[in-house]
Amino acid sequence: MVLLFRSTNGKSPAVNLRDAFLHGIAPDGGLYFPETFPRLSPDEIAAFAQLPYHEIAFRVLAHFTDGIISDHDLAGICREAYHIPVPLEKVYGRVSVMRLDQGPTASFKDFAAQFMARLMGKFLRDEKREITILTATSGDTGAAVAHAFHNVPGIRVIVLFPIAEVSLSQRKLMTTLRENIRTVAIDGKFDDCQAMVKCAFADPALKHIPLSSANSINIGRLLPQSVYYFYAASRLARAGEAMVFSVPSGNFGDMMGGIVAREMGLPVRKIIVPVNENDAFPKFLASGSYQKISPSRNSVSNAMNVGHPSNLSRLVAVYGGQMDETGNIHRMPDLAAMRRDLFSSSISDERTRATIKAVWDKHQLLLEPHGAVAWRGFEDWEQTETLNGLPAVVLETANPAKFPEEIEKMMGWSPDIPAVMEAALKLPEDFDQMDADYEKFRAYLMRRHL
Ligand SMILES: *Cc1c(COP(=O)(O)O)cnc(C)c1O
Repeated sequence: MVLLFRSTNGKSPAVNLRDAFLHGIAPDGGLYFPETFPRLSPDEIAAFAQLPYHEIAFRVLAHFTDGIISDHDLAGICREAYHIPVPLEKVYGRVSVMRLDQGPTASFKDFAAQFMARLMGKFLRDEKREITILTATSGDTGAAVAHAFHNVPGIRVIVLFPIAEVSLSQRKLMTTLRENIRTVAIDGKFDDCQAMVKCAFADPALKHIPLSSANSINIGRLLPQSVYYFYAASRLARAGEAMVFSVPSGNFGDMMGGIVAREMGLPVRKIIVPVNENDAFPKFLASGSYQKISPSRNSVSNAMNVGHPSNLSRLVAVYGGQMDETGNIHRMPDLAAMRRDLFSSSISDERTRATIKAVWDKHQLLLEPHGAVAWRGFEDWEQTETLNGLPAVVLETANPAKFPEEIEKMMGWSPDIPAVMEAALKLPEDFDQMDADYEKFRAYLMRRHL
């Protein structure tokens, strides 16, 4: 049976995975989301305990690709995409850190990008089509997408990033590739980059250019992010035991992976959603009134400098509500249920930095700023409820070597640099620069697609 995806705005027809994936955003401006969630039985989930990551990925994702690509092809894609190690480091009791930083660009975004590039490559080969992927990045998406799509035939990638908001290593991981990858430094904020990408998608003057997105607005990026929740549970939880996850959040794509896993049947006690000073969500959860942060606030966890998380509209939909892309709520979600399932707090830069130091001193565990936000959010939650012996996982979403300046400041020494990063850091950079001006960006796209 082919699963259909509907728009969170409810005004476009439901489509299959291929169309949702290739279009990125629904014609009515909403985000695609499964009409219903496939359910895994407790036995199927229990069987994951014996399986390697790529096999778990196959068994989870097959529910979404059924009738769209063959099991044989999906299994091949998963095997190729997922030879990334996923260390689960026990910190104390049943509390662990899951390191999602071992991929080619050292952030969790590799997990989605590696899968997406292969799936998209396959669709385009089948259809003998070409496509341009536009993506806005606050640091890590651009690198993950650029690496995953580098030299994939039929695909060009244009990455927009805010010039002053990404670290040097983040930048080099995307600007040192060439061939089908272009990067554009925008003199503005991440929100400006995201807005420019959204304008391009909606622009009738660009209708002749086949565009797609690789941001977490794309369902193809979200689904693979459900897999590591199953994986963590398969290694840490007894059969049927519920878990607590703490997920450092910006655009809420990562945490939505956890929601997808839960909706598919993974027992989850709580998803903790710590944010930096962009605190629209914890305020909403507390008050029921949503006010996006505009402009977004800068912070040391720069990949989470998001004033209005686009995936909120999907979260709201899971809880029976409706939110449009500008953040207006047309139907309230079930707030009581959200508060039961989720916890969110805002972590200042000061607390983030103090956490890096405290966790090192206490546990000899090195966290970078995003992981530190997750850790601190977990501690905040523990002030309100107890774990009661359940397993908990704090997601570390990037390698500390991506933020040597911050680590150096707190610890007085720099983290080891993984080999993949070391190579990129030595290559010459090449990128374009532009004001945060949509007219200019449109002209740029037109010029590149004559
Ligand atoms: C993107 C990113 C996040 C935030 O993930 P979202 O899916 O946008 O919530 C957290 N940490 C790191 C290192 C990231 O790159």
